[in-house]
Amino acid sequence: MFRKVGSKVNFPQIEQDILRFWKEHGISNKSIEARRGNQHYVFYEGPPTANGSPGIHHVLSRLFKDIICRYKTMKGYHVPRKAGWDTHGLPVELEVESSLGFSNKAQIEQYGVAQFNQKCRESVFNYIKEWEVMTERIGYWLDMKHPYITLDNGYIKSCWWIVKKLWDKGLIYQGYKVTPHCPRCGTSLSSHEVALGYRDDAEDPSVYIKFRIIPDTLIAWRRLLNIDIDKPAYFLAWTTTPWTLPGNTALAVAPQAEYAVAEVDGEYLILASTLLEQVGLGPCRVVGSVKGRDLLGARYEPLFNPHKYSVGREHFPLIIEAGIRKTWSEPRGGLTYPVIDTDFVSLEEGTGIVHIAPAFGEVDFDAGVDRGLDFVQSVDLEGKVTGTYPFSDKFVKDADPLILDDLKSRGLLYRSERIIHTYPFCWRCETPLLYYAKKAWYIRTTAVKDRLISGNAEINWYPSHIKYGRFGDWLENNVDWAFSRERYWGTPLNIWCCSSCGNY
Ligand SMILES: [Zn+2]
Ligand SMILES: [Zn+2]
Repeated sequence: MFRKVGSKVNFPQIEQDILRFWKEHGISNKSIEARRGNQHYVFYEGPPTANGSPGIHHVLSRLFKDIICRYKTMKGYHVPRKAGWDTHGLPVELEVESSLGFSNKAQIEQYGVAQFNQKCRESVFNYIKEWEVMTERIGYWLDMKHPYITLDNGYIKSCWWIVKKLWDKGLIYQGYKVTPHCPRCGTSLSSHEVALGYRDDAEDPSVYIKFRIIPDTLIAWRRLLNIDIDKPAYFLAWTTTPWTLPGNTALAVAPQAEYAVAEVDGEYLILASTLLEQVGLGPCRVVGSVKGRDLLGARYEPLFNPHKYSVGREHFPLIIEAGIRKTWSEPRGGLTYPVIDTDFVSLEEGTGIVHIAPAFGEVDFDAGVDRGLDFVQSVDLEGKVTGTYPFSDKFVKDADPLILDDLKSRGLLYRSERIIHTYPFCWRCETPLLYYAKKAWYIRTTAVKDRLISGNAEINWYPSHIKYGRFGDWLENNVDWAFSRERYWGTPLNIWCCSSCGNY
């Protein structure tokens, strides 16, 4: 006998009936228990955050997870289905901050971190009922009665165990990471927050700076560049952030581009040939031209030698040993900086020669890591210039005109204008953001890069182009993982620092 099938089918009703049958007879659990003792198959349930309502995209990802587990169960594996909830992170903090009317970290500390975290703890399961209903309704077999929860001390203990294992293997170190930083709020902003604060009417200086080439370099290149070595020669670079110039430690060129040697008032200026006109050097005498790659290996004088202004000079890789930043003394024969080639030099604007300050920009920082450049951090977290420069203690934007005056007095300012362009501001307080290299704890994932790549080669990817595409690229270009955050509501790091000697 079978139940009669009507000509009008109500699919939602059929689904409800099946769900009820599954629930009444504990089918989900039976499918797992019946295979106990068989080979184990572990599925890591990437936990969703339950402080917001589930969306349609969650349905899709939950179905994928369910299908894999069902398939493996049907193949005879024992597949437990442990649910998980991600309860930590900035989204939770932001929601609590706005409910308390806070706009910066200082207010959280005034309020009390313990109390703030208590509010976070209370808010994380606001929508758990909706999640449970959705999960059950779409037929996702998941043990939601015994979930793992990231705020549980048991879970945190597992994280600590992992960190300790990595520490013992020498895979954890303290270094720097470049983040968009608000000098007023005293915090890094996420890319989402940065996107909230772009202004396309920001007015800034637009300046062309001369970097004096070391005469020794010129002797070797006299013939190539067709110049008289008794006359001074400069690389010309453009910037809208003069305050980053004391942090300059390299200049970048495009290796394939053509660079002109222009003679102006008894001195030479080197810049991309296609930009001569735009920079205002169209009518001047061009005595020679070379490819960008021919400029590699040239060295130039620092605009502001950090050793003369009591600012530390560090080298990449920037590793903080026992809490102490390793700085270097001035090399014998004086400090000089290199010309490097990169793939991000624009030939649309500027001079085709890019000023690199690894302390103040993400691509600059990456270039510093790649090329082992020097690192000079001449600004503090409040956005004030450090050291003993004539413009020290000033907020960076107030230091801009003083820096330009200083360069002008030394004949190193070629041209100075104002520009209206797009620049990110803090969405909370409208302070201009600074891209800033901050201390962060890293996991040395690059130490196991080869194993990650060979492991990926054995994975069956759907869709297959991800394997050597997005994911493969990511592994090929793997950089160490900065896993610490400057926030309150998260897994505390099990690293203790001695306040008197700085040892860990
Ligand atoms: Zn701010
Ligand atoms: Zn100590």
